[in-house]
This record gives sequence, structure tokens and C-alpha cells, in this order.
Amino acid sequence: MKKRSRMQTNPLTPGLFYSFRFFPAERQVFEKKEELKLSEHTEKHRVVIKSSKPGPWKNENNPALKGIMDLMEFSKKLFVLVKCVQGGGSEAAHNYVYKKMSTSRHNALLVMESERKTARTMKQRFIPAVKASPKLAEKLSDNPDDTTNYSITLRTGFNINIGWSNSAAALASDPYETVVLDEIDKYKSSLNIEEAKDRITTYGETGKGIILSTPGHENGPIMQEYKTCEAHYDFHAVCPDCRQDQKMNFQNITWPDKDKAFKDDKERHRVANIIERDKTARYKCEHCGSMWNDYARDQALILGSQNNLNSINGWKPREEVNKRPVSIGVKFPSWLSPFKSLSTISARWLRAQGNIAKLQKWYNNEAAEPFSEELTGKTIKEDVLYARRHIYGPEDAKWQIPMPGCVLTCFVDVQSNRLDLETIAWGKDYESWGIEYQQLYGDPDHPELWQSLDTYLRKEFIHESGNKLSISICGIDEGYKSTPVREFVAKRKGVFNCKGSSHDSKQLITLNRSRQPKYTHSGKLYIQPLIIGTNEAKKTLFSWMEITEPGPGFMHWHEGYSYDYFKMLTAEKMDTQYKRGGFPSIVFKPQFKGIRNEALDIRVGNYAMIKLLNPDFKHIAVGLTSGIKIVGAAGAPPVRGRRIVSKGV
Ligand SMILES: [Zn+2]
Repeated sequence: MKKRSRMQTNPLTPGLFYSFRFFPAERQVFEKKEELKLSEHTEKHRVVIKSSKPGPWKNENNPALKGIMDLMEFSKKLFVLVKCVQGGGSEAAHNYVYKKMSTSRHNALLVMESERKTARTMKQRFIPAVKASPKLAEKLSDNPDDTTNYSITLRTGFNINIGWSNSAAALASDPYETVVLDEIDKYKSSLNIEEAKDRITTYGETGKGIILSTPGHENGPIMQEYKTCEAHYDFHAVCPDCRQDQKMNFQNITWPDKDKAFKDDKERHRVANIIERDKTARYKCEHCGSMWNDYARDQALILGSQNNLNSINGWKPREEVNKRPVSIGVKFPSWLSPFKSLSTISARWLRAQGNIAKLQKWYNNEAAEPFSEELTGKTIKEDVLYARRHIYGPEDAKWQIPMPGCVLTCFVDVQSNRLDLETIAWGKDYESWGIEYQQLYGDPDHPELWQSLDTYLRKEFIHESGNKLSISICGIDEGYKSTPVREFVAKRKGVFNCKGSSHDSKQLITLNRSRQPKYTHSGKLYIQPLIIGTNEAKKTLFSWMEITEPGPGFMHWHEGYSYDYFKMLTAEKMDTQYKRGGFPSIVFKPQFKGIRNEALDIRVGNYAMIKLLNPDFKHIAVGLTSGIKIVGAAGAPPVRGRRIVSKGV
């Protein structure tokens, strides 16, 4: 131990010094503080038995776990770990207990999911690990009754009780300094977690609750505990190539032909097997684009775990942390574990597509994320829609628009450097076929970009009947930049400048009769925009997204639609908000801050356009199949008018 300076920094007023004399009790307290951190203690004393890498514990073998252990100690009262399966989360909690066994004389409680699991874990892992650690083994008493599967008493007086959710030990109200509740989402009886946490209060400063589990439902116990933590930390890996740090996301894991749609389930499983066999999955660095294989990923984890700049062994706080947090929550997905190949994770994901039960398992066990019916009702998972992509026609088809799709709408979103647009084919009962999602790059202040939009709107699509189909109606969001949009709209029929209103009771379409272009006194062109009630539109679109069989409202996408598109389309979640007076209203919120949602906005716009047009689908379909070309173009000069058969507008 280093010789302690008699001059101490006052933690409350850094920079000010005060001196003091040690009394024996104080010395004890301060020596405690110079104890090894949990990760250091574990590396020094823990011996791994049942593992692919037996021998002394090396933090390098599971780099993200190093910070998890130190955060476990750093949290003042409670540590919550939402974990993947077989990532080593339980081992970290055991390591905390082992350290307490060698440093404390107070009682500990370890609760597991079932009696069977408890007996197995104790017999195969926990007790052998105690016996293999010289520092702990010497503390074991000679009395065989002191070491059983349900309790261990050391010579020092330290006692640990081990139970399962409905065991006497778990339900008794004895006070404990350390309480570990493992796999709480699998507990059979509803162990009162609040009560379990209360048992540590008698121990003041040193009492600690550790709660861990693979998640189940969004509203399950582990997620409830996680959400209410004071601080949340995320692990940041460091790219071995560009040395920049980043929180790893599943979306950055990629494999050959990731965006390709599958003919059938058999093909999907075949591709999954190849990925797993040939280890072709890679992690794409979000900074330099370097593609990490499993080895480089492991390096990135090690480099991350060495980062202590604004982080604890690579774990960075999401909220600002000024003092030791009372409770800390972390998530440990399987891509942070060197024991999980990126290819295995990807293959499992592919195999789970199209099957809600399997997908839920994948989210829980690999991503360490909840996934539940409530969740699928209120938010739509991009995977579910992505898996629904299919091929519209035979490979050699000369047409783009399938027979039942008979009216084309287009909606345009203006961005600082481009226009994002989607063209959709609509049929009877608003069944729809996504035709194209495109970006036209350019400066919206320059006419070239608008020229390319004009060209696009004149484009002719081939219908399955052999007829040519043009876009019938087009909307452009003027919210970002109104002047060029209005200038474009003023010269064209069937093209509308639009504005979204998220007011909860706003009707879908508000269109002022007089859309005559006028000039304001400052000389600016003004055309009354069409107001789209976005809440109204999203309610319909969300219900349509849940339809799984072709028919009224069903949405078709072909294999050209990328995974990113579906991320944007599902970027928002539906929530119920209670206004004054208790009346509920539906609101839509981004799933998280900064998420892109253009694809959803553009769908909303397209839906408003087809409702505005209100076409007689039956009449048009008959016309198309009888070979009469009746569908005309938006964007044509106003004199030509529209030739669409329409019931309104
Ligand atoms: Zn990089």
C-alpha cells in the first residue's frame, strides 16, 4: 500500500486542502478506500474453472465486463444489469460476492430463478470457484455443514444464503449487506423486489443490491428497475483502425447481401447457415467505415475497456454524473461479448425473421432488449416489416406496377442537400405497393434540383397490364424551405405545397379553396399550403403496418427497400397522453432523440395525397385491364389538366 499523504483534498471543495490526524477507526475507513477495485480484485484472486479459457481470471477475456464490475461497486445502493445470455453477467455478480467474502463479515443473499438452477450453479460454478481461489479457500471452515448448496459460512463469520424466488431464504426478512437477484424476469413467484432492496438499508454505506436479468417484457421487473436508475452507462468500443470510440449497435453489423430479400424461408436459413459457417459478418465502424471481423471486434472491446477518459473502463454515462449515483443501470448485448461471434448473432437474427416468438427471443437473449405484445401494438419493429418485403413479379417482368395497383402518388421531403421522395401505387381499399424511395441530390435553392424533380414527375411506369402509368398527384413538404417549393407548385397542376400539423385533433386534410398564387408585400410568392393532420394519418398507417395479409390497407414493399428505410418508417411510437380533464389523446413521439423519420413523413404525405384524390379504384382498374389509357400525370402544365377519374377534388 502506498504511504498516504497527510494532506487530503476536501472532496466537497476541490482545491482546498485540510489536514487531519488518523485515528485507528479512520485509518480503517481509508484503508478500505484503497482496496483493490472489483475488477482488480477479481483478476488477482479469481480462478476460472468451467470455461473455454480456464485458469486465472483475465479481464481481457471479457473486456466490457471489467467496467461492469467496477460500476457495480461505483453505484451507491443499486446496480441493474440488463444482460444477454451467456455473456458473463452472472459471473460479474458472483465476483462481487467473492470479494465481499474476502473483505466483509456481513451477510449476503444470492437469489436465482429456480431450485434446480440454484443447486446446479452452486455445485458446478460457485463453490468450485471459491475452493479454487486460495484467498477464499483458506477462509472456508472445516465443518462440512458450513458449505452447502444453500449456504456458506466462512471462518470470519461471513455468511451467504442462497435461494430461489420462492425459497425460505429469499422470502425471509433478514437484513443483508449484499443482495444479488439473478434472472428476476424468470422468477416464478413475485418476490417483492422493493422489500429485497430494503433489506440492505441497515448497512448504510456498504449495503448494495445487484439486480440482473435477460429482459422479457417491456414492463417486466428488470426493465422497470433499469428505467428508474439514476444513471445509465453505455459501453464504447474503440476502433482499432481510427481509434474513435462508439456505442455499438446491431444496425452496424453487416454481412454480404444484407439488403437482399429472400425468395422463401429455406433460402433465408441457407444464407444464415453460410454466414455462421464462413464467419462473414462484420461490424462497420461508424467513423471510418472499417469492417471489423470478430478478432478486430475483440480488439475494439479491449481498447474500449482501457479508456478511462470520461468513462469507467469504456463505460460512458448517458446522463451527466456529478456524484456517485445511487443507482446505475447498464445493458450488455451479446456483441459486447468476445464469446459471441458477430456471425452467430447475425445468423440467429436472420433465422428469427418473420416469427414473432423467435424474434422476441433474439431481442431478449442477444440484444438485451425487451420485446413484447404491448410493444408490437404501439410501436412497429422494423425487422417485422423488413421481413415482409417480397418480389412483385417474375424476375424478367417488364413492368414495375402490379395489376391491382392502379393510381400513383408521390410525396417529396425537402432537405438541405437533397429531395427525398417516394412513389406509391394504390389499389382497391387502399392496399398499397411501394414503388420507389429515392433521393435527388442538389441544392434546393438552385433550379437544377427542381428540374430533376420535374423530370422525375414526368416519368412513366409500366403497369402489369402493359399500360403506361404516370404519377397522378404529388405533394411537397414546404416546412423546411417554402419559397422554391411554392415556385415549383405554382406552375404545375396536381402538385401541392403541404405542411404537417401534429395537433391531435387536426383532420387529415385542410385545403383552402383559394390556392391562387399571390405575392406578399415583401414580394414573396405565397400559396396557401395544404395542411396534413399527421396524427390522423399516422394512426391509420400504424394500424395498416400491423396487417399481415394482403387485402384492405396492406402495405407491400419490394426487395429494393433497404433496412435503413424501415428504421425511418418505424422511428416513432404511439403513446396515449392524458390531457386536462382526463381525456386521452394519441400522440406520436420519436423512439429516441435524433432518429431520422423522413420515410414515415413521406408515407404520411402520400396517404394524404391519395385521400385527397379519392379515386374510383374500381373504375380505373376496369379501364386499365380493358387497355384504355386513362391515368394522367401530375406536374404537367396546368392547361392540360388532370385526366384521372376522381370522385373528389
Ligand atoms: Zn474506425
